[in-house]
Amino acid sequence: MASPSDRTPLVERVEELLAADGPLPIVAAGDPVLRRGTEPYDGQLGPELLARFIEALRITMHAAPGVGLAAPQVGVPLRIAVIEDPAPVPEEVAVARGRVPQPFRVLVNPAYEPVGPARAAFFEGCLSVPGWQAVVARHAEVRLRGQDEHGHAVDELFTGWPARIVQHETDHLDGMLYLDRAELRSLSSNEAMAGRWTEPTPATAAEALGFDLP
Ligand code: ZN
Repeated sequence: MASPSDRTPLVERVEELLAADGPLPIVAAGDPVLRRGTEPYDGQLGPELLARFIEALRITMHAAPGVGLAAPQVGVPLRIAVIEDPAPVPEEVAVARGRVPQPFRVLVNPAYEPVGPARAAFFEGCLSVPGWQAVVARHAEVRLRGQDEHGHAVDELFTGWPARIVQHETDHLDGMLYLDRAELRSLSSNEAMAGRWTEPTPATAAEALGFDLP
C-alpha cells in the first residue's frame, strides 16, 4: 500500500491527467501502454485520487460514447476498468444479443473464467480502435472475480452482452485488444456496419465475407 502523499510517477501521471476538466484523451492502438499489461491495484492512488480517477473514466466512457473503458485506454497501467450499458437498441437486437442494461460498475483487479462451453459471436468495437468493428466469439457466460472500488470482493456470474463487456475490458488489463481474438475476415468499417450489418446476428456477414461462426 502506498500513502496518497507518495509522489510516485503513477500518482503524478494521474494527477496530470485530472488537471484538465472533462473527458480524458483516449489512447489508440499502436501505443505500447495498451500492450504491456497492468499492475494490480493496491492503493497506489489513495482513496481520494482513486475516486477522482474513476469519475474521470466514467465521464470519458459516457462522452465517447462507450459501454466500457479500461485504465490503459487513458494511458494508466493499473488494473481498473469501468462498465455501463443503458442498452439503447431495438428489442429484436436486444433479445438476440442478450443486451440487457448493465448499471455502472467499477472493476478492480478483475479476472474471468468461462462457465460452460457455450460461445456467442457478435460484432464488437473498441474506443482504442476507432472506425472499425469485427466479430469475436466469446464465452457466453463467465465468472468474474476481483474487487469493487471500495475494496470489497466481487465474485459474480455475467451472461449476455454484459459478459462480453467484462471480457473485453478485462482483456485490456492483460494487454489484449479484441482484434487479437476476432475473426479478421469480419473486419468492417463503421460505414459498412451501418449500411450492411445491422441484423441482430452476424450470420449474413459470415456468409458474405467468408468467416465461420461457432
Ligand atoms: Zn476496448
